[in-house]
Amino acid sequence: MTVNVATLGFPRIGPRRELKTALESYWAGKSDQAALLATAAELRRKAWARQRDLGATIIPSNDFSLYDQVLDTTAMVGAIPAIYGWTGGEVGLDTYFAMARGAQGQPGHEGCAHGHAHDGEGAPAAEMTKWFDTNYHYLVPELTAGQSFRLASTKALREYREAKAQGIETRPVLLGPVSYLLLGKTRGADFEPLSLLPRLLPIYAEVLRRLAEAGAAWVQMDEPYLVMDLTDTARAAYRDAYAALTGGTPTGGASTGDASTGDASTGDASIPRIMLTTYFGALGDNLATVLALPVAGLHVDLVRAPDQLGAILAGARPDLVLSLGVIDGRNIWAADLNAILDRIQPAVAAGRTVVLAPSCSLLHTPIDLERETDLDPEVRRWLSFAVQKVAELAVLARALNEGRDAVRAELDVAAAAAASRRISPKIHNPAVQARITADDPSLSRRTSPFEVRRSIQRAKLKLPPYPTTTIGSFPQTAEIRKARADYGKHAIDLATYEGFLRDETARAVRWQEEAGLDVLVHGEFERNDMVQYFGEQLSGFAFTSHAWVQSYGSRCVRPPIIYGDVARPRPMTVEWWRYAQSLTKRPMKGMLTGPVTILNWSFVRDDQPRSVTCRQLAFAIRDEVTDLENAGAAIIQIDEAALREGLPLRHGEWQAYLDWAVACFRIASSGVGDATQIHTHMCYSEFNDIIASIGAMDADVISIETARSQMELLDAFAGYRYPAEIGPGVYDIHSPRVPAADEMSALLKAAARRLPADQLWVNPDCGLKTRKWPEVRLAIENMVAAAQAARACA
Ligand code: GLN
Ligand code: ZN
Repeated sequence: MTVNVATLGFPRIGPRRELKTALESYWAGKSDQAALLATAAELRRKAWARQRDLGATIIPSNDFSLYDQVLDTTAMVGAIPAIYGWTGGEVGLDTYFAMARGAQGQPGHEGCAHGHAHDGEGAPAAEMTKWFDTNYHYLVPELTAGQSFRLASTKALREYREAKAQGIETRPVLLGPVSYLLLGKTRGADFEPLSLLPRLLPIYAEVLRRLAEAGAAWVQMDEPYLVMDLTDTARAAYRDAYAALTGGTPTGGASTGDASTGDASTGDASIPRIMLTTYFGALGDNLATVLALPVAGLHVDLVRAPDQLGAILAGARPDLVLSLGVIDGRNIWAADLNAILDRIQPAVAAGRTVVLAPSCSLLHTPIDLERETDLDPEVRRWLSFAVQKVAELAVLARALNEGRDAVRAELDVAAAAAASRRISPKIHNPAVQARITADDPSLSRRTSPFEVRRSIQRAKLKLPPYPTTTIGSFPQTAEIRKARADYGKHAIDLATYEGFLRDETARAVRWQEEAGLDVLVHGEFERNDMVQYFGEQLSGFAFTSHAWVQSYGSRCVRPPIIYGDVARPRPMTVEWWRYAQSLTKRPMKGMLTGPVTILNWSFVRDDQPRSVTCRQLAFAIRDEVTDLENAGAAIIQIDEAALREGLPLRHGEWQAYLDWAVACFRIASSGVGDATQIHTHMCYSEFNDIIASIGAMDADVISIETARSQMELLDAFAGYRYPAEIGPGVYDIHSPRVPAADEMSALLKAAARRLPADQLWVNPDCGLKTRKWPEVRLAIENMVAAAQAARACA
């Protein structure tokens, strides 16, 4: 039996972000629909040919998207919310982009300070949220109790035929019906989204029937929810859905062709065979449910959950085709191919039909390492992007099909790279390792409890009630970006660049004093990004030039790569802080990004637990905190914007994560004396389920996002009796709208009903980097007025 190579999905933005360019030009009205569609078709054509040439034998179609695959599914099943005025027929681009970005004239999704997604105010764009535990964002289906479905997009069929016309047989990818419903939110009456399943399945059945008619032998049905905690209702929905779609038979009908290939000879089947695709974790307690489903194939993630192979082999029907996700689709490390061959030996020895695949779609990796010509060559040989990962899979398949000797050279290269990672002094720093293993509980404990610190800090800082501050960044204007780009291109020298930044900083400090803010910030003008800025100054980090990964729609991010032990060779922010503080008598906040956030927004080394890497980051930040204190900073903010998004997919693993994440924050923040006030900031609002851990961080002040929910979120803080001070954001910075002072006063009053007034700070809900100065000036002046009004009534 020949072992095949499947890719599950390929990055769609294009090697030079061609899709981004085409989309943004189309949205700006600078090009027409035909141009956009032509670019998209060309990207698909090249991606299919590329995968084939690299040795993939099962190539996906319908993995491409103009915006998002969940939105594509919403279009496919015709679940278009009424507000978009869709009147039936094939969902067109206007409707599609209206759901993605809001209708004409409305602001669309705006990134927050870190390029992460937020709704634009008043924009009727569909809500966007993170795709499982990735940094990719999908558009949330909005379902009503009376929801009806109909086939409203034949994209899957079109793209299958398009590849076929190019001479490439593909396996179309569909987001499975149960995961689709579970990803949705319900609108109106409270009801169970899964109750819509009987109405949804006929649409899937129709799509499958048409794909079979067009010649598709297999489809890839993505059901990532199978690695999540499922209720009995959800498990039953899986049984019902796949029984209904297959008529109860694994092959879906009278199919005949070779089960292991994408062979088109099964065109007579009533529906294609289903490769049920799971990823991002172990099937765990859903395994028995999954193995009883009448599907022809099962894909499992053996990178995140290598240990599940044994149970799967023991329990799976002998004819179940197993797709083994052995190459990491979520990270950028070259694989140790020999180790993988050893690991999957039992599956091959059992005489199973096996497919080799990445753990999940390659969507989450950058496209091609070849373009990274500026990387340190030693670091580069440890890496593998989407193109290299397909090649790795092809080598593995050849080793199985022809014997390891047939690919001895490739295996040796991989083995040498793996060996060099194990010993390279670029990675292993004994001093760092010794420091982080020291088991000294005082390292993660402030000297005194909060109550004691609080009175010391109050006596020192002498702030008024309802103290005002901002979250850190001020507008990153076109001039600032230009100066940074010029400096990068050596068009201006360092002195000129820094002089420019000093002027910006001085202006911002002067303006903050005039506006009447109590605790000032330097504005973060010198920072390209809140993670990159620190990564560039820490050892153990590498940065790429072209390694973009889709975040949402046309938005891409280029995460730093943490490849080695992390150390801080020298202070990173002290000079800027010192300069800014020299301009004012008011307290100037030191401003740092926390270890958990740096970790969660990077590609992280896979040769040690994430918790260990985070601990290294924590010590590096601790050194910076101590240096800021020694330089005279009375207040230091350590942002943990991404702490919540690192939560594991399974509830049972939450506490372990929270424990080490909180411990890392405490290591970073506990090197200071009682008089130094530690702030933290989190730009989200769901705290109820992790509030105890937020409290355990033991920060003196926390600022959070609350403006958009009218302070309802504070209920969590009231219920738990959060001990320290809180700045609930009173100004939603994700919108250009300037809130009036009255509006912010009302929010402050709402906050004061839930929490003691002497616990409250007044601030916007995130950094102001994405805003424009005219908006910021007005909004902050109004905010200060609201704080003064609150003081007057206090
Ligand atoms: N200090 C950062 C800023 O103001 C925080 C950004 C964030 O939380 N995303 O830009
Ligand atoms: Zn924020």
